[in-house]
Amino acid sequence: MLVYIAGSGAMGCRFGYQISKTDNEVILLDNWDAHIQAIKAEGLIITGDVEDKVKLPIMKPSQATKEADLIILFTKAMQLPQMLKDIQGIIGQETKVLCLLNGLGHEEVIRQYIAEHNILMGVTVWTAGLKGPGHAHLQGVGALNLQSIDPENKEAGHQVVDMLNQAKLFASYDENVLPNIWRKACVNGTMNSTCALLDCTIGELFASQDGVKMVEEIIHEFVTVGKAEGVELKEEEITKYVMDTSVKAAHHYPSMHQDLVQNHRLTEIDYLNGAVNSKGQKLGIDTPYCRLITQLIHAKENILNIK
Ligand code: NAD
Repeated sequence: MLVYIAGSGAMGCRFGYQISKTDNEVILLDNWDAHIQAIKAEGLIITGDVEDKVKLPIMKPSQATKEADLIILFTKAMQLPQMLKDIQGIIGQETKVLCLLNGLGHEEVIRQYIAEHNILMGVTVWTAGLKGPGHAHLQGVGALNLQSIDPENKEAGHQVVDMLNQAKLFASYDENVLPNIWRKACVNGTMNSTCALLDCTIGELFASQDGVKMVEEIIHEFVTVGKAEGVELKEEEITKYVMDTSVKAAHHYPSMHQDLVQNHRLTEIDYLNGAVNSKGQKLGIDTPYCRLITQLIHAKENILNIK
């Protein structure tokens, strides 16, 4: 397969690196000049659980010409529409497009650019970080679930699962991926935004009784809105998953803390708590916690003059 990684930041580098160890061809796409120059000059440097350096082709989406078999989307949520416009030149009739971004509502966006029978939606608990241009730091083990949106095209989903498993990415075909996408969004919607606002680790948030009460209210809003949209969500099961995750990740500052507080970058809040609030508004369901958290994060982005 010819696999393009559309958005080769932290996660794109992890997936690109692991797929490069298989028989498949990988091309990284990104528009960050320093990152492109570093990878062209030195190769992609990997540290963490493994130390490695690999030569991988990297270019801007506009420079890619060969038709893709698979494109894995790994931009931040707010960058997705632009990326979908930029990759039109490498999309053929049978090019599959896999979305593994965090957050809600991406399927509707992707449908505007990609034929339904080629769309694969997924969710991953792999993680990755960047130490600087051309340098990915990879720690821990993850997994991912994906599903073909078109039930007639399950076979394509299974082929992608097989390829990802050659890359030791521990992929599974999921007959109903949407609840898992919502569950991960709920983890992000409870911990990322709150820890960014409170400037604390996940463990510090969950050690506070008021912090836990707030988390429970947010979960309730996610589950109420999701269920009203027809997504099969169980509040008790999601609460347990969030609590278990908080124990495993107690010492971490979540990625929104890294984006907003540490690096002054725009956040994905509109695709997490913000998405629940806007979906809730359309459904006539009030979601005061998600609304306030979204407003507070945007206010902080404004105060820091992040654009
Ligand atoms: P990132 O910011 O490190 O990478 C995104 C990359 O996309 C950047 O390098 C950026 O330059 C590039 N990009 C954006 N728009 C582009 C365009 N139009 N053309 C070319 N390049 C473009 O982000 P990340 O941490 O890798 O996260 C990607 C997604 O995966 C997010 O939705 C995130 O929430 C999710 N995710 C991240 C992790 C993690 O541990 N980092 C874990 C699970 C899921």
